[in-house]
Amino acid sequence: VKAARAAMRGPWATMAVEDRSDLLRAIADGITRRFDDFVEAEMADTGQPRSMMEHAFIPRGAANFKAFADSIKGVSTESFQTETPDGKGALNYAIRKPKGVIGVICPWNAPLLLMTWKVAPALACGNAVIVKPSEETPGTATLLGEVMNEVGVPKGVYNVVHGFGPGSAGACLTEHPGVDAITFTGETRTGTAIMQAAAHGLRDVSFELGGKNSAIVFADADLDVTLEAVTRSAFLNCGQVCLGTERVFVERPLFDRFVAEVKARAESLKPGANFGPLISQEHREKVLSYYAKAVAEGATVVTGGGVPEMPAELAGGSWIQPTIWTGLADDAAVVVDEIFGPCCHIRPFDSEEEVIALANDTEYGLSTAIFTSNLSRAHRMAGAIDVGITWVNSWFLRDLRTPFGGSKHSGIGREGGVHSLEFYTELRNVCVKL
Ligand code: NAD
Repeated sequence: VKAARAAMRGPWATMAVEDRSDLLRAIADGITRRFDDFVEAEMADTGQPRSMMEHAFIPRGAANFKAFADSIKGVSTESFQTETPDGKGALNYAIRKPKGVIGVICPWNAPLLLMTWKVAPALACGNAVIVKPSEETPGTATLLGEVMNEVGVPKGVYNVVHGFGPGSAGACLTEHPGVDAITFTGETRTGTAIMQAAAHGLRDVSFELGGKNSAIVFADADLDVTLEAVTRSAFLNCGQVCLGTERVFVERPLFDRFVAEVKARAESLKPGANFGPLISQEHREKVLSYYAKAVAEGATVVTGGGVPEMPAELAGGSWIQPTIWTGLADDAAVVVDEIFGPCCHIRPFDSEEEVIALANDTEYGLSTAIFTSNLSRAHRMAGAIDVGITWVNSWFLRDLRTPFGGSKHSGIGREGGVHSLEFYTELRNVCVKL
């Protein structure tokens, strides 16, 4: 914290926006130059397939720096001409200043991507950061520090502190009075603890939290597009994606066929080849406890439900089967709780009103994906589901300029484009009497 505060008094504080923007581009290039190191580090930490690291998680980490290198150059602020009784008037205009030292607390499910999604806009706005990566995935935050040094980011601007959360590095950081604001991605429960810590000193928070996301499939949807998207949304990254789908609602005429087709696709995933393990044995215990609960609550197990047999050299991993259930009540634990594993419950519906009520019947509000060829219905539904992000006929299609975040228990604030800049800067008004 001392290093970060000192950096805010050094050359970083007066660096021109254009130069900061160039530095962000250099960081992106630095990640690309050491691409293989980042891929290896993230694979070693998460166990996920190389292809996903190479095509999504690492390039998107670099892309975050490029996006904010651009957006910081186009920021405008408001101004007002104010009329006054003497007829001479006043001019009001706003300026943006960095918030200061930002605590960045990150999860393990997409370590570099989610961390840079915060660090890039924070640095673009001229702040200093202290990153606390997840204890499960420390590698790429450290590598990024090496890149920062290589490209000449001033000392103390990007700091990494490793350690656990409660009673450890995470709590120390969020409780430290020298930290001006805290941005966090992780579980809703952890967000509650961090918000309590942030209340001391009235520090600002930005939270991306858990989800229990829905996919809504109408019978008129393009079936191939829908199957591809829903399968990916349920099983990508072994189900460890905050935007992942754990509740699928399918219009009744399509229901049986849809379940059979998703089953076939789930069974074509090959653990150890195109399908990675869960992050840890501890997390597998949690997910398996939900697999057991589903059976106890009367689910039909369409596929999966257990641990796959693996060759001896891989047997120590936290492997788990992609799993589909049908037939559960709407208040069953696996239909209500965020599991964060490769699993979904598929349920039929008969009307738009019914499925809106079902989709909204959750304390979470992160995302939904609606599949239909009826455009009016798509727009109507998008307005009716209480979530921060709606996809129509797709999933996880991202434009980094758009607002990203959750409603209800899924988050506070929005990240992306100008919305990130709102959090990472303090807006000041200047009133000039003419
Ligand atoms: P987690 O909340 O267990 O941990 C996240 C981070 O918080 C870790 O670095 C951890 O060490 C730290 N931490 C834990 N307790 C803390 C405390 N009391 N004070 C300070 N720091 C503390 O989350 P996770 O298991 O790493 O990640 C999975 C969760 O993240 C899921 O709920 C998922 O939905 C959510 N997530 C949300 C988004 C989103 O954008 N909404 C994205 C990815 C993951």
